[in-house]
Amino acid sequence: MDEKTLAPGLYLVATPIGNLEDITLRALRVLKQADKIACEDTRQTQKLLNHFAIATPTVSYHMFNEGDRSLQLMAELKNGARIAIVSDAGTPGIADPGAQLAAAAIAAGVPVVPVPGANAALSGLIASGLPAESFTFHGFLPSKQGQRRSVLEAMVRGAATHVFYETPHRILEALGDIADVFGEAQHVVVAREITKLHEEFLRGSCVEVRATLAGRAQVRGEMVLMLHLAEAAPEIQTATIYESVQALIKAEYISEMDALKRVARERGIGKSEAYREFQRGQSRPKRKSTAG
Ligand code: SAM
Repeated sequence: MDEKTLAPGLYLVATPIGNLEDITLRALRVLKQADKIACEDTRQTQKLLNHFAIATPTVSYHMFNEGDRSLQLMAELKNGARIAIVSDAGTPGIADPGAQLAAAAIAAGVPVVPVPGANAALSGLIASGLPAESFTFHGFLPSKQGQRRSVLEAMVRGAATHVFYETPHRILEALGDIADVFGEAQHVVVAREITKLHEEFLRGSCVEVRATLAGRAQVRGEMVLMLHLAEAAPEIQTATIYESVQALIKAEYISEMDALKRVARERGIGKSEAYREFQRGQSRPKRKSTAG
């Protein structure tokens, strides 16, 4: 195991996002056998290395020295070095440094090897309850409200679930903007502190989730924000309320009540009126298709 059998190349090694058990056996071997580990924060990575008794030398590699450090590391890689890259947590290159060096290595003909493992976006998505067959990862939403709203307004409706990284000090603003842009009933999922002691998934309308977080003494923790936008299909406009509610439930996996509230809002009618119409629709014989 200690023998240096690792082939020369650049290894992009995923590390845990909170739970140290989420390191792979292969990641441990690569980190142990590499000549050097390029880290976003050497002190942070040293804790991980100490925990697993790995003595490989480290060097810093972060957004502020990515350019210069890439040149040094590239020179070593071209001479046959085995270099591992890790970020503070999760998968390098995903909202973290790594992609630039990978591109430079590929251009120089140096092998680039992924060592997969933990990632916050995918972990959040698979347990969100939202459709996961197709998704768009946006990284962090912009900090300025105008830019944030532009990103939200440009989001494509339909099949893909939208996945964002968000910070505790901006999550309330982001949820407020989602309510303004897509309506108060827009269903969202906030995955907080994934794999950690206080892991939680908050699911509900953007207004409900915002109220839950705002009601806490302090909003804290790392978080992934996810939402799925129903396709504004023309047939939904001509469908009965019952059919529109069923279509929304199917498309967004939201509750009947959330779907009903949304349909009422979109049609500019009260919730009780929508509910009465919904009940009538339930008892009517079902149409085969609303498309034609
Ligand atoms: N490269 C990392 C990955 O693969 O997930 C992401 C790094 S990015 C700089 C850090 C952001 O990822 C955090 O602000 C948060 O949005 C998200 N994140 C990281 N760890 C998380 C966790 N345990 N739970 C929820 N979100 C997390």
